[in-house]
Amino acid sequence: MATKIIQQILPPPAPHMVGDGFRVHNFFPSGYNLGNNRMSPFFMMDYNSKVDFSPRENPRGVGVHPHRGFETVTIAYQGKVAHHDSTGNSGVISEGDVQWMTAASGILHKEYHEEEFSKKGGPFQMIQLWVNLPAKDKMSKPKYQAITNDQLGKYHLDKGGVVEVIAGEFKGVKGAASTFTPIEMYNAKIKKGTALTFDLPENFNTGMLVVEGAVKVNREKAPADNFILFKNEGETISVEADENSVLFIISGEPINEPIAAYGPFLMNTHEELEQALEDFNKGKFGYLED
Ligand code: MN
Repeated sequence: MATKIIQQILPPPAPHMVGDGFRVHNFFPSGYNLGNNRMSPFFMMDYNSKVDFSPRENPRGVGVHPHRGFETVTIAYQGKVAHHDSTGNSGVISEGDVQWMTAASGILHKEYHEEEFSKKGGPFQMIQLWVNLPAKDKMSKPKYQAITNDQLGKYHLDKGGVVEVIAGEFKGVKGAASTFTPIEMYNAKIKKGTALTFDLPENFNTGMLVVEGAVKVNREKAPADNFILFKNEGETISVEADENSVLFIISGEPINEPIAAYGPFLMNTHEELEQALEDFNKGKFGYLED
C-alpha cells in the first residue's frame, strides 16, 4: 500500500474560551479555514491543550445549550467533566474515558468541570469533536454512549504501549462506539522508540493530533499539540515515537451532502436551520435546569 501523503502539519491556532471552562484551539473548520466538508464526517474539532485550572468552589463550564443534527464526542485526557442532558442522561467523563452523545433530533445539555476536580484544580486536557450525521439520521432519536476506558478496544504493543480503539477497528480489535457512518477513531499511547503503522482508506478524511510527546509521522517531525492533516492520497501512515507519546487518530468516510451550520445546529439546508431555531424556541428540545 502507498504512503498516505501529509498535506500539512498544523500548529495549534490561538485558543479561545468556550464558556469559562474550556480553553480550546479550533483546528477545524474555522481555525485554518479548512472548509465545512474538508474533514467530513468530522465537522468541528476543539482541542483543550493541557492547562492548569485553579481551584474553585463553583465549577467552570458551559451552561444549558441545544444541539441538533450531529453528535458530540468528548475525549478526556486530564481532568473530569460532568454532563447532564434533557433526556435524563448524566455522568462524569474521567481521564481516559469517551462520551459519545448523539444529539440528532435535538437535546439540551450542560458541561461543567466535575465538582471535586473543580475544588482541587489541576491540569485539564480534552478534545471535543462534532461528528456530522447523514440527512436520513439527523432527526433520529437522541442517544448516549458513556464509554469508560476499560470498555475501549485495546491493541497491546511492545514496550507497554496500547492502541485504544474508540470506533472502527485496529488490527482486528473492534471499537467501543457505534457510529452512523464508517469511522475510525483511536488513541495510540506509545513508548519512546515504538514504530507502528496505520492503514486507513484513501477516500477517508484523516487527521492525527499529537496529544502528548513528539513523533515522526512518515518521517516528518510532529511536536505536541500539532494536528497532521492528510491528503486523500495513499493509505499507510508510519509513526515513530521520539518520546513517550499519545496520538489521537481520526479517519472517516465523507458524507457527501450540503452543510448548513449555525451555532449549535448542523443541518443540510437553511430552512432546516430555521426549523431548528423555531423548535428550540418552542421548547421542543425538552427541559434542563440551569
Ligand atoms: Mn455542547
